[in-house]
Amino acid sequence: MQQANIPKVIIIGAGPGGLALYHALIKNKDKKEFDVKIFERESSPKERWQGYHIALNSLGTQSLLNCVPSSITSNLQKAMPNPLPDVEFHGASIIDNKGSVLCNIPSKLFKDFNELVKVPDEFSLIITYRDRLRDVLLDGVPVHWGKKCIRYEETKDGVLVMFDDGSQEFCDILVGADGINSPVRKQRLPELQIFDYGITNVVANIAVPKHFMDRFIKLQGNCLLQKTLGTHGDSSLVIFRLIPIEQEPDYKNKSNSNELHYRVTLSYSYTSKLDDVESDKQKVDDNDSASVIENVKQMIRNFVPECEFNEILLELWDLVPKSTPNDPEKYQYKTYNPTRRGQYHDIDPSSVKPWTSSRVTLLGDAVHAMNPVLGLGTNHAFQDADLLSKVLINYSSNDPISCIQKYENEMRKRSTVDVLKSRSAALQMSSPVGHIGAIIRNSSFKIINFILNSKNIFKKLIQ
Ligand SMILES: Cc1cc2nc3c(=O)[nH]c(=O)nc-3n(C[C@H](O)[C@H](O)[C@H](O)COP(=O)(O)OP(=O)(O)OC[C@H]3O[C@@H](n4cnc5c(N)ncnc54)[C@H](O)[C@@H]3O)c2cc1C
Repeated sequence: MQQANIPKVIIIGAGPGGLALYHALIKNKDKKEFDVKIFERESSPKERWQGYHIALNSLGTQSLLNCVPSSITSNLQKAMPNPLPDVEFHGASIIDNKGSVLCNIPSKLFKDFNELVKVPDEFSLIITYRDRLRDVLLDGVPVHWGKKCIRYEETKDGVLVMFDDGSQEFCDILVGADGINSPVRKQRLPELQIFDYGITNVVANIAVPKHFMDRFIKLQGNCLLQKTLGTHGDSSLVIFRLIPIEQEPDYKNKSNSNELHYRVTLSYSYTSKLDDVESDKQKVDDNDSASVIENVKQMIRNFVPECEFNEILLELWDLVPKSTPNDPEKYQYKTYNPTRRGQYHDIDPSSVKPWTSSRVTLLGDAVHAMNPVLGLGTNHAFQDADLLSKVLINYSSNDPISCIQKYENEMRKRSTVDVLKSRSAALQMSSPVGHIGAIIRNSSFKIINFILNSKNIFKKLIQ
């Protein structure tokens, strides 16, 4: 009898946002109890290779800690290892296409993620292991795998959710945490469309031998996120962590050498129009990673001057596996993704009129996907989960909508700022600037660097 009075929440999607919300609703049980169910279209946690690195900032990390119980917090170390003192610097730098630093984003040093959350700036970040973060967040969550939501029917009493296997579930609140192509959003807010930038992005994850990364670090420093700006609308990104891969559980040294390897994410982006120009010379097939990698290398050769930094960049792309490993479990870095071309997209919730809230709401990429240039998407998904779980404490069956409305008003306002900030950064970085334009742009970054960092020095002096 009592069970019947407990309102039911259904979450569609077991990505970082959906999982954080699940934990938060269970964590708040003593304040407001919900019967929470989470459904995921993938057949198991291993169906898809997860990404390698994501950067979390202070706000995202704080929200994540607010959402999860202490049993998960104590495991977060596995996904967010402490920076190695004097070796790893969790910051970002912007460099020109010869490898010279234009701007060091003034990030603060911290010893662990608990200290990061006390840093009150928007620049400091921790590079985390995306694959492990998902594993840690899955712990203790009874995900219903292999359940693809196809549509729902909302009435004044609740929401009937339908899955592609013909099954149905009834709930009081439905949360679409089902990513950028969310079927829940497409039905709930069909007018809220995906924005296509016309920018192509290729991402690869690799294990890099220590002697190789030593060369890179000697040249470029130990800033863990380095963005290179080209002049043809091309840019490169290198993200790495100096946590030796051998420290990962179950690692077996396949190369029979004692050399340590490090985790590295490489990304190359360019205006998609360049593919049309290049297509005469290079046939690119997204089902053939070797052709995608060769295309990236060809563009780097065409667009950047010869120098040691660019040689290293090309050698890094040479290390990217050309085909899918046979056994994901035995694969040394476990998070291989076929190297394909992808597109930059986003969703700006303020591009449509504020909608009337209902029992069906959205969270994370489903409602405000952001391009990855500023690394903010997961941070917002965690902030959504934190906020939604807090407003749901005031849920009442007589008025189920007011709390959702409060969540949506705040979420829309907060996320749209960063969607547009990320959009503007990506469009600027991918605009061809030419030789003179590059001089102007690089000088502007140097001035920004001076202002940002002298402000920091000044702050330190007066502290
Ligand atoms: C290359 C790249 C780099 C990035 N780097 C960063 C970074 O450094 N920092 C950062 O904060 N963010 C980063 N992001 C963004 C980040 O990945 C997303 O913002 C984040 O994953 C959003 O989480 P989510 O839970 O909202 O959605 P998702 O992670 O997309 O999860 C959605 C889940 O829903 C499931 N699903 C989809 N449809 C259905 C359905 N019909 N039924 C059931 N389940 C369904 C999916 O299988 C998936 O598991 C990056 C993104 C990319 C592409």
